[in-house]
Amino acid sequence: MGLTREQVSSGYPGDAMAPRYAIVECDCGVLYNRREVSLPIKDIGFFECVECGKRLEIWYGRNVPSFTRLTSQGERKTNRA
Ligand SMILES: [Zn+2]
Repeated sequence: MGLTREQVSSGYPGDAMAPRYAIVECDCGVLYNRREVSLPIKDIGFFECVECGKRLEIWYGRNVPSFTRLTSQGERKTNRA
C-alpha cells in the first residue's frame, strides 16, 4: 500500500473548530491535500484518484474528507513532445 497519511494536528474527535489536514499520496504519485469536515448530517461517498482511478477513501458518517489535488511534485513522464 502506498497510501501515506500524516496527521498534522493531534485530532481530538470533538475538536470541530480545527480542521485536520493531511497529505495523501496515491500509488501513482499524485499528492492530495486531505481536509476533514464535519457535516450536520451523515454522508456517504468515495474519492478516486483523478489520474489512475484508484479508490483512496470511502466514508460514511458526519466527518467526511475533502480532497484537493496538489501541484505535481514528482513530474509525470509523458512521451508527448
Ligand atoms: Zn493515482
